[in-house]
Parts: sequence; structure tokens; C-alpha cells
Amino acid sequence: MTFRLASIGGRAALVLGDHHFDLEACSGGELGPDPMAAVAAHRRLHEIATGLPDGEPSGALADAVLDAPVPRPVNVFGIGLNYRSHVAESGLGGGDDPVAPVVFTKFPSCICAPGSDVALEGDSVDYEAELVVVIGTGGKDIAAADAWDHVAGVTGGQDISDRALQFAARPPHFDLGKSRDTYGPIGPVLVSPDAFDDPDDIALTCEVNGERRQRGSTADMIFSVPALVAYLSSILTLRPGDLVFTGTPDGVGMATGNLLVPGDVITTTIEGVGTFTNRCV
Ligand code: ZN
Repeated sequence: MTFRLASIGGRAALVLGDHHFDLEACSGGELGPDPMAAVAAHRRLHEIATGLPDGEPSGALADAVLDAPVPRPVNVFGIGLNYRSHVAESGLGGGDDPVAPVVFTKFPSCICAPGSDVALEGDSVDYEAELVVVIGTGGKDIAAADAWDHVAGVTGGQDISDRALQFAARPPHFDLGKSRDTYGPIGPVLVSPDAFDDPDDIALTCEVNGERRQRGSTADMIFSVPALVAYLSSILTLRPGDLVFTGTPDGVGMATGNLLVPGDVITTTIEGVGTFTNRCV
């Protein structure tokens, strides 16, 4: 059975339809309230979810304020230049696909709730709608063929990027410009991979003030989710709750001149996961 995992008031909750079910309650106390522990118990969540139709909801989803579904990852990886359309618009690829994944970190302190305000610093802040992969079962040297079995689920992410800071140093450094406070909203929920007809073909869009800026599918990624999990785990041991921002399609503000200004509203939609909205302040 598929599951949808949320964090509400700091407590893990499963979502079914329009309702949420506190995980500690609906698991009969087997699992505690910590969302990070819930991610690590992803295999059990499939089973617990089968009982939800007979259970008593904790509340209506519409009344809940959602926190980041994975609030305290140990490692947060970002993948740069992972869509050809974005490589082309960025001018950074030298005309060729990357020969290895371009990997940077978003420091975990930037991770915030799906509805968080984004606190703009300066006038060169950009949006990047992305699929975010959540590791459920860690490991080293995970084979690409086994990668999805190690994934608890996917969620949406905005890889908010300070372009001036990104290119302030020579050569450019990605980590700091993508890690300011509030520059990593994720959500609205984590969805298990088996909820998708093809987890390697998930559509995503980004709108700013209701205007479509980005549209893509993870099927267009240069390095697929299995390839990224295999590559990263060949270098270091992945842990439950680690996040991988998998890259963004074309249409970012840096390429089109549409950088973010206070008052802008960013709407990110991941097919099968949901939509979240961030206001720029
Ligand atoms: Zn990105």
C-alpha cells in the first residue's frame, strides 16, 4: 500500500484523502512522533497505511499547518545542471552534458516548511522547482537497480538560489548561495515511490504570481534518481532522511531576467505529490 507522510506540529502523520492520522496514534504506539524516525521506518509505513480507512482521523488536512516532511536531514545534496534545457540556458555546460553529476550541498539549516516565507537577500534571488528524493534505508555502494528500494519517498522542493553569492567567488561556489535561511522549502508531503506509475517520470511545474515559469519531467534528467543514488552512495554512506534535490528544468529567473522580488508568490507543483506556495518577503 502506498503512503503519504506529513509533519504537523512537529509530529509525523499519515495522510489519506482529506484527512491526517497522527502516526503514534494510528500505529498503536509502535512508532513515535518523530518524522525522522518515521522516514527510517518507511517499510513499516506501507503496512500501517493499510489500516487507515478503518481508523479515526486526527483532523482535516485543510485545517493543518504542514511542517517540512523531513525536518532534520543529516545531508542535503543538490544536483546542478541535470536537465539539458537548463544546462543550455545557464551557459555553464560548455555545450556538453556533465560527465559526472554536479553535486553541491544545501546546508540542512535551510530546510523549511512548504508554506514558509522566503526571506530575500539582495536582488538576484532565483527559484528552482525540483523533485526531492528522501532516502529511507541508508547504505554504501547501492546499485542503481536497488536504488528505489532505498528511497522512502519523494517530495517537492524549491532550491532557492542567491545568484550573486553563487558567482561571488572564482570558481563559482554553489553551497552558500543555496543555503541562506528559508532557501529550502520542501513538501507538502512525502509520497512513497510505489504511488507513481513510473517514479522516473514525474512532472513538475513552477509558477510565479500565477505565471508559468517552469515545466518539466524527471524523465528528462541527465542523471536519473537511481543513477544519483548509486553515484552518491559510491562516495559516502547515505542515511535515512538524507535529501537529494535532483535539479531543475529550464525557465529559471537567471536565464529569463525574472528574478524574485518582495511580494512574489512562488507556486511549486509536483505531480502526484502536491502543490506548495511560498511568499517572498
Ligand atoms: Zn537546483
